[in-house]
Amino acid sequence: MDARLEAIRDTVLARNPGEGEFHQAVTEVFESLGPVHDRHPEFLEGAVLERLCEPERQIIFRVPWADDAGRFQINRGFRVEFNSALGPFKGGLRFHPSVNLGIVKFLGFEQIFKNALTGMPIGGGKGGSDFDPRGRSDAEVMRFCQSFMTELYRHIGEYTDVPAGDIGVGGREIGYLFGQYKRITNRYESGVLTGKGISWGGSLVRPEATGYGTVIFAAEMLKTRGQSFDGQRVVVSGSGNVAINAIAKAQSLGATVVACSDSSGYIVDEAGIDVALLRQIKEVERGRLKEHETRRSAVSYVEGGSVWDIDATVALPCATQNELDGDAAARLVRNGLLAVGEGANMPSTRAAVAVFQEAGILYGPGKAANAGGVATSALEMQQNASRDSWSFAHTEERLTEIMVGIHDRCAATADEYGDPGNYVLGANIGGFVKVADAMLAQGLI
Ligand code: GLU
Repeated sequence: MDARLEAIRDTVLARNPGEGEFHQAVTEVFESLGPVHDRHPEFLEGAVLERLCEPERQIIFRVPWADDAGRFQINRGFRVEFNSALGPFKGGLRFHPSVNLGIVKFLGFEQIFKNALTGMPIGGGKGGSDFDPRGRSDAEVMRFCQSFMTELYRHIGEYTDVPAGDIGVGGREIGYLFGQYKRITNRYESGVLTGKGISWGGSLVRPEATGYGTVIFAAEMLKTRGQSFDGQRVVVSGSGNVAINAIAKAQSLGATVVACSDSSGYIVDEAGIDVALLRQIKEVERGRLKEHETRRSAVSYVEGGSVWDIDATVALPCATQNELDGDAAARLVRNGLLAVGEGANMPSTRAAVAVFQEAGILYGPGKAANAGGVATSALEMQQNASRDSWSFAHTEERLTEIMVGIHDRCAATADEYGDPGNYVLGANIGGFVKVADAMLAQGLI
């Protein structure tokens, strides 16, 4: 790392002790930015990096609620409003027991660059809670969401901060959150949340967008080597919204997705995952992946272990951060891997990224490859602002244009900085320069 940047990075780490994932995300971005600061000394003079690493505002709050047995439960809520140089803070809410300030800050930091890459007018933010929705009834989830919004509502707004979903937050939760926001504020402010239901201000393609976008991005990478998804053997991790839609899109392009996972194990289906059954089990029944085995004879379920033990030509990590380590990366590379498209945020450890890059694998980092979700959220905001709703075909066309645009911008930036094919460099520099220019233009704030 460039010595000037290393000194700033060390200060950031010291100021934010114990936030391992945030340290990882900052270090990974700083490693790309040396050459930018040679060309743009004004970024150093303007303390852009120091400002960028310090969120504009961080909110931590108590979320009290009563469970079905009448017992009082207390969770912790977060919203980190990281950077609004390009637009209102924008980013999802994650409800998962692993959520803490460091996790929210890593996600919010990544979101700044991701959102910049989309070319849409959105800043970066993230939030969530350590609430675990698993095993909770609809009524409990509703009461939790209502309590969460009873504090959050005062911090958000169409022109201020626009939350959406992430792990543990889908259409059901956004519905409860929106209802409570409307009730408290007495405003039908569609643009305050994205991921809404289609009959009350949501956008078609938003549920599919992250998974579809990841596959579109990976397809563009494959194209640079004269390849396509047709005939690829794909392994996907996860079985949530991003994974399911990545599987559907990859198979529609002629790939065979042979495995996917949840936190307990993974399934293998050499004939290709049955997406309709997967949707039924995960989305309708809210069940576990294991149930797949009893419903389809071709499927074998492996309890525990790693889905990355299964050979693939294309790997799509769509579960969570740091789920693919250096050893898994090395095994995949040995067994014929061509490309990695990250549907999750920071799913590959730094060691895994190093293995992919040294082996010349096409590697699309999450902040570029999974930007289709938030980009389609920005399309939802556009529709809300004009009180319009677009067709599936039109919205999908816009998503495709945006993803191809992100791919091309990352590739062109990597070329410009003398490292063709390095999408990490392209994404980090491409996102950063846009935000840095806007920050300097807006003065010392
Ligand atoms: N949580 C998603 C992400 O990681 C989507 C955020 C949004 O739609 O605002 O980008």
